[in-house]
Amino acid sequence: GSERKGKPRPLKPMSFEEIGGQDRAKQELIEALDFLVHVDQISKFGIRPLKGILLTGPPGTGKTLLAKAAANYTDSVYLGASGSEFVEMYVGVGASRIRDLFKEARQKAAKQAKSSAVIFIDEIDVIGGKRDGGQQREYDQTLNQLLTELDGIHTTDTPRILLIGATNRKDVLDAALLRPGRFDRHIAVDLPDKKGREHILNLHARNKPIDEGAVSLEKIAEESFGFSGAQLESVMNEAAIYAMREDGESISQRHLSMAIDKVMMGERTDREATN
Ligand code: ATP
Repeated sequence: GSERKGKPRPLKPMSFEEIGGQDRAKQELIEALDFLVHVDQISKFGIRPLKGILLTGPPGTGKTLLAKAAANYTDSVYLGASGSEFVEMYVGVGASRIRDLFKEARQKAAKQAKSSAVIFIDEIDVIGGKRDGGQQREYDQTLNQLLTELDGIHTTDTPRILLIGATNRKDVLDAALLRPGRFDRHIAVDLPDKKGREHILNLHARNKPIDEGAVSLEKIAEESFGFSGAQLESVMNEAAIYAMREDGESISQRHLSMAIDKVMMGERTDREATN
């Protein structure tokens, strides 16, 4: 029976268990987050606070999911933004948006009685790109404001603020951002290997009727070499659409193989369109 359960599900906080593969990234992230959790020890040993974690890797590999899971793990409020939101025509607007973001994080944490806040900025390279001579002043001010906010974080502050940045172009980041005391930890979030792909496929199969006897997700993991988590999520979704269109009871291996081709093809057309 593939009947839909009518009840709306409440938004559940993201947990590390819901992120497929990425074992090393998860472990490194949790180790870093434990610094935030054990703040008494940190100050006893005179260790400087962890202010920033940089997640680097290709699109769709789960960086946003990791940031949300980090907020949940540390019982923090979560605020997400994208670097492109800070790019404005008028000088100073980006900088004041950064200021507002940190202010909002502090207010939100206070209101929800949380002792910490995680601020996630995707595409951080848009504001934190290298400042070579010809670049616009707007970017400088925005980046400077971000550095000021980071430098203003102290161990004993409540709420504690952790900035998580994501980029797929670490090489273009300004050295000022990468200095100790700013983005202190760099964590690579790479494309999943076969085992990781199988794990991700399994996670996204959970709410779908799969022909358990006939489907090998291991085989699909093998066939989807080079796919990101986001692409694997699409594969499961497209396969479900094929199954539904055929009025079938469940998703078969053939639906999944067709879905792999579709997602691969889609990527190609996307690339051709932008080239
Ligand atoms: P971008 O850099 O493009 O923002 P990202 O690395 O932040 O990408 P996410 O936004 O975290 O990627 O992932 C997009 C979607 O892809 C997720 O909502 C999820 O459905 C799926 N996904 C990506 N990676 C994973 C993973 N490791 N496990 C499970 N699902 C994943």
